[in-house]
Amino acid sequence: MANVLLTGGAGYIGSHTAVALAERGHQVVILDNFRNSQRDVPDRLLRLTGKSFPVIEADIRDTAACSAALAAHPVDAVIHFAALKAVGESEADPLLYYDMNIIGTIRLLEAMQAQNIRRIVFSSSATVYGQPDTSPILENFPTRVQSIYGRTKLVMENLITDLARTGKLLAAANLRYVNPVGAHPSAVIGETPTGVPNNLMPFMCQVATGQREFLSVFGNDYNTPDGTGVRDYIHVVDLANAHALALEYLLANDVAVTVNLGTGIGISVLDLVNAFEKTTGRAVPYKIMPRRPGDVASYFANPGAAEKLFGWKAALNVDDMCRDSWTWEAKRAGINDV
Ligand code: NAD
Ligand code: UDP
Repeated sequence: MANVLLTGGAGYIGSHTAVALAERGHQVVILDNFRNSQRDVPDRLLRLTGKSFPVIEADIRDTAACSAALAAHPVDAVIHFAALKAVGESEADPLLYYDMNIIGTIRLLEAMQAQNIRRIVFSSSATVYGQPDTSPILENFPTRVQSIYGRTKLVMENLITDLARTGKLLAAANLRYVNPVGAHPSAVIGETPTGVPNNLMPFMCQVATGQREFLSVFGNDYNTPDGTGVRDYIHVVDLANAHALALEYLLANDVAVTVNLGTGIGISVLDLVNAFEKTTGRAVPYKIMPRRPGDVASYFANPGAAEKLFGWKAALNVDDMCRDSWTWEAKRAGINDV
């Protein structure tokens, strides 16, 4: 079993991955600056797993702090989640994104190199494909980044691939995620967006709790079966398990791979609203609004490579995603009848 450092391990996907790794017997160390996560996440992880993970409060841009963390906690590999992830914010403040994501990743890789840690799993995104010509998307499709956030992901992927190509890294996986939703079924951990959520599922949950009056459906005139945008939503627990399997694959194979993580199923906005209402019994009033600038009509991934390489396949369906998202959000909103 491996020792693993999770940068951004207190965040949404990182915290679920910490649980998945612990369940498979791995030792987890978390490094996070808590810029976008709650300070009680380590306590919640203890409640869920019965394990107390060492937590280092540090910024990945601080090479000395990362080196000290890696020296104090020798690990076999790093899973690198820490990043800023808001497309709109990246367009408003490009330097912040280049600094946090790209400079941060360089500093982390320097610290790893100094401690001779040569295996990394990296959180990339299907956003690097932009609007693909067709779906399902394969990993060899052209990359067409449409935002500064997307560009930072592509640069970080290239950095990692170059270090693997030149032998500085032994094994690396760039994981291109589709749209993560849901929460741990215990509702002990989940996503905690601040302010008005940008993403469909958390917004829809807040309509169902009564915190928001209605959902704006951004466009019903796309070239999709019902005219609304189609995405590949993936349950965060499935995504977390994929990280554990990717890590185990890299421990056994000295390779660099780029792999999609998705279900392979396209779900429209109205499909998701209908599934949510059916699964939770809550109404989601909505209004059709104009398209949101920058949105693509449709995409879903081909997850075949993940199955072939890691032996991973999504196990949870859209009803599971709606149920677990709702249970988490309802608990946050203090609704007791769920
Ligand atoms: P998140 O914001 O919940 O988690 C990121 C964590 O990293 C947070 O705990 C934050 O405090 C920490 N962090 C940020 N900058 C840091 C820094 N400089 N130093 C140390 N810690 C720092 O986000 P998430 O949804 O869990 O996303 C994790 C990763 O997955 C990110 O790299 C993101 O770009 C990528 N990703 C997310 C999605 C999504 O929709 N959630 C989709 C594709 C890819
Ligand atoms: N969407 C919507 N209303 C919202 C938020 C999102 O209709 O309040 C749509 C959006 O246009 C897209 C889909 O839901 O078709 C998924 O959007 P999200 O922001 O969750 O993820 P994205 O794929 O854009 O990163």
